[in-house]
Amino acid sequence: MSLRSRLTLFYTIGLGVVLVFFGLSVYGLVSVVQLRQVDATLDRTARDLIDVTRVDERGQFVLSERVSLDSSVIVQIWDLDGNLVGMTLAVEPDSPLRAPFDPSAMQTSLPIYSSADLGGVHFRVLSVPLHTGGTPIGVMQAATSLTVIDALRTDIVRYLVVLSALAILLVSLIGLVTGSRALEPLSQMTETALQITRADDLSRRIPTEGIVDDEVGKLIVAFNDTLARLEKLFATQRRFLADIGHELRTPLTVIRGNLDLMRRIGEYDEQALHSMGLEVDRLARMVADLLLLAQAESGRLPLDQRRVELDTLLLEVFNQAHVLAGERVSLEIDTIDQVIVCGDRDRLKQVVLNLLANAIKYSKDGGKVVVNLSKNQGQAFLAIKDSGIGIPAEDLPHVFERFYRADRSRSRAKDGTGFGLGLSIAYWIVRNHAGEIDVKSRVNRGSTFTVRLPLAGPDCADTTTDLSGQPLPVAEPERIG
Ligand code: ADP
Repeated sequence: MSLRSRLTLFYTIGLGVVLVFFGLSVYGLVSVVQLRQVDATLDRTARDLIDVTRVDERGQFVLSERVSLDSSVIVQIWDLDGNLVGMTLAVEPDSPLRAPFDPSAMQTSLPIYSSADLGGVHFRVLSVPLHTGGTPIGVMQAATSLTVIDALRTDIVRYLVVLSALAILLVSLIGLVTGSRALEPLSQMTETALQITRADDLSRRIPTEGIVDDEVGKLIVAFNDTLARLEKLFATQRRFLADIGHELRTPLTVIRGNLDLMRRIGEYDEQALHSMGLEVDRLARMVADLLLLAQAESGRLPLDQRRVELDTLLLEVFNQAHVLAGERVSLEIDTIDQVIVCGDRDRLKQVVLNLLANAIKYSKDGGKVVVNLSKNQGQAFLAIKDSGIGIPAEDLPHVFERFYRADRSRSRAKDGTGFGLGLSIAYWIVRNHAGEIDVKSRVNRGSTFTVRLPLAGPDCADTTTDLSGQPLPVAEPERIG
């Protein structure tokens, strides 16, 4: 059964229950009110009559004065022997009304109300015992026909049934129509989802014009957001595969070229072997970086949580970087505060080394790289500023993406080792230390990479153990950019 039908059924059943309850209440209320009125009339009539009824010396019932009684009430007076000794209505001797209205109440010692059928008529009867000086002398039965009230009750039942049926029908129709309208966006969602599956096209979206901000509207927005994320994810994956293919092709071509060369000349060629060795190293580094990223992104890369003296770490990396910079680029430390953060020393070292190596790699000859390490408001602040080639504005938002290289020709021109993974790894490491990494750059003026990390709190393990001796599933610390 469809959701629409189910909702309509629930509405209808709900309404039906309410209507039955309402109908029974109305019917009961009307019956009670009507009966009370009838009973009050019977009671009044009986009292009026009893007030003027006397028994003479012969034991006959006589009226001491004339009373005007309610014309709808018929009163019978019965003596103890069951003889009808008085009646307010003149009837034929063989009339059924000459029998007691309610024979079962003839011996009653208390006034009681009852219903009885007499001569095919439904009566409400009040039976009152009659006494004189404490001695029972008979029974008075005052009765009035319930025909009108019964007819009224039947009418009420008929109206309620017809009106309820109409209301249920109307509500079902309204439910079906509004249900269709309300669920229409869901049908569209289903259709879109099917189209996406059929056409394998994640760029489709459910139209959002005129949607209401209700549960369904929110579902549509969430669905579209999910589609957008999926689309981005698939695009990234596709680009990632293409990038890997692209990155693998160059070293493999070099290796094959050198192998062909040696095969042709029939002897080992030192130059060719050296070149092949370099390419194999490059491939190995790329695979190591990819493995690290894969582990990181699947949450399987554990990070230490220890106190790390960032200033000491920076000096270590700075010394290594001197080797890379050689005479080509000058390195300078502007400020270096004593800064302790909480985290994984090797990974943080990897970040600093990567940023410094990039700064050197993308510096022009004779360029300068300046490093600052300070702390402020509970945060460590590391800035690595170079005066190199800079990064074009359109590339800036992407430099932390995997395999992203701003202007590939320039990136590979100086050094064939870069394949655009270093910054994504740095990004992941910093983010997983609750920090932020950012870049500001201008083409041909230089770039400044900044890393913000929270300072170590008292709950961070109080040890500065050097963990660099532990094996890493990544490139060696000497890795360049
Ligand atoms: P790569 O191994 O290519 O250097 P990274 O992930 O470290 O990979 O850097 C991604 C890209 O960002 C680089 O290819 C380069 O285009 C750009 N980049 C990184 N650092 C700098 C910098 N200091 N100056 C200019 N461009 C940079």
